[in-house]
Amino acid sequence: MAGIIGGKSVVVVGAGIVGAATTYFLSKRGFHVRLIEASAPASAASGAADGAVSVASKRPGPMMTAALRGIALYRELEREGLFAGLFKSRPTVMVAENDSEVESLLGHAAALAGEGMRLRHLEGDALRRRLPGVAPHVRLAVEVFDEGHAIGYEIVRRFIAASGVPVERDSPVTGLAANDAGTSVAAALTAGGAVEADHFVVAAGGGSAALLGLSEAMRPRKGQLVVTERAPALAASLPGSLMSCRYLLSKDAIRTAGEASGRRFGLVIDPLRTGQFLIGGTREDRDDTGNDHDAVGRLLAGAVRLMPALARLRAIRAFAGVRTAIRDGLPIVGRVPGFDNLFAAAGFEGDGICLGPLMGREVSRLVGGEAADLDIAPFAPGRFERRNLVA
Ligand SMILES: Cc1cc2nc3c(=O)[nH]c(=O)nc-3n(C[C@H](O)[C@H](O)[C@H](O)COP(=O)(O)OP(=O)(O)OC[C@H]3O[C@@H](n4cnc5c(N)ncnc54)[C@H](O)[C@@H]3O)c2cc1C
Repeated sequence: MAGIIGGKSVVVVGAGIVGAATTYFLSKRGFHVRLIEASAPASAASGAADGAVSVASKRPGPMMTAALRGIALYRELEREGLFAGLFKSRPTVMVAENDSEVESLLGHAAALAGEGMRLRHLEGDALRRRLPGVAPHVRLAVEVFDEGHAIGYEIVRRFIAASGVPVERDSPVTGLAANDAGTSVAAALTAGGAVEADHFVVAAGGGSAALLGLSEAMRPRKGQLVVTERAPALAASLPGSLMSCRYLLSKDAIRTAGEASGRRFGLVIDPLRTGQFLIGGTREDRDDTGNDHDAVGRLLAGAVRLMPALARLRAIRAFAGVRTAIRDGLPIVGRVPGFDNLFAAAGFEGDGICLGPLMGREVSRLVGGEAADLDIAPFAPGRFERRNLVA
């Protein structure tokens, strides 16, 4: 029967990293979960991400606080064995190329240190010794320790396998049906019929907008990435991912100038375990997954400007994914007002690999009738007006 407080059946909509994590943590709590996916696991943003598990890339405030907890959970799940072999611990090195970037970077480093992050400033000879491949014009580097990297689709696969829940593939949820009183969701509607449950979690990335009636608040944010051929010695010369200060500025533009902005470039050069480099990425107000020469060319030119030896490598692959951004720059996590059994976890923009496992655990607590462990009030779904939630 639908809508029973304390009931044990849950429908999770979406098998990206957030839905997969939610499914895993709910299963551990003894819930009977049905995981319904429009296409295939990790077929959207979670399968097209870089994979930085990073506090350094967050603005001070609720996202930085959440990211600290997100990394701590990655380490905990690695210790427990669930993420064995999947989480690579490494620093993030943020670099500034001119006076204004130096000023922004110094301010950001102070904020990170204020949150307890370990970091060190590198200039002059110390910078050249630590980062021999970085261009001589780079003025300042800040190495932020205790960060990491994980590949989104591997995390999704691990969560789903460990949960023991079969994924119901190729089964888009077309709407949510309310009970007669309109106080609970009674069923998720699919082409195969109505799926009833006690609780419903919408973790459908960009597909959440229609299901939650939040199309006004959500925006697609395309990102293009490039992968080089292997160059293990060069990759080993970088202690971790190299992030231009402009990356932060490109992210910030989403929050401050979302509607008006077009295409932004925020350069990150990530040395992968394979010895390849992942170079990203754009932020574009578009919803397609194509690549274009202009974007790829500018990403490569930016990367070579920061690390000249990359010019010797061939780019062997370009791909793109679509992030789901929210108008105010914060995700949507929590119970949906007006329904006692409907929860949302979506809109993680470029941070969902870092935050997905944590948010899945938080949502499992809410479904279980417990308070969240993290202050999720800034992420409350009720901060936006909803339209046409229920079919
Ligand atoms: C280019 C790029 C680089 C990125 N780099 C990083 C990074 O370095 N670090 C980081 O932390 N994050 C990064 N991200 C962001 C991260 O990938 C996302 O925030 C995260 O994957 C979102 O996970 P999700 O589960 O919310 O959504 P998704 O992965 O989009 O999954 C949602 C799932 O729901 C399904 N679905 C949609 N609608 C329906 C429906 N109606 N019924 C059933 N199923 C439905 C979809 O098919 C999909 O499988 C990046 C993203 C991109 C695109």
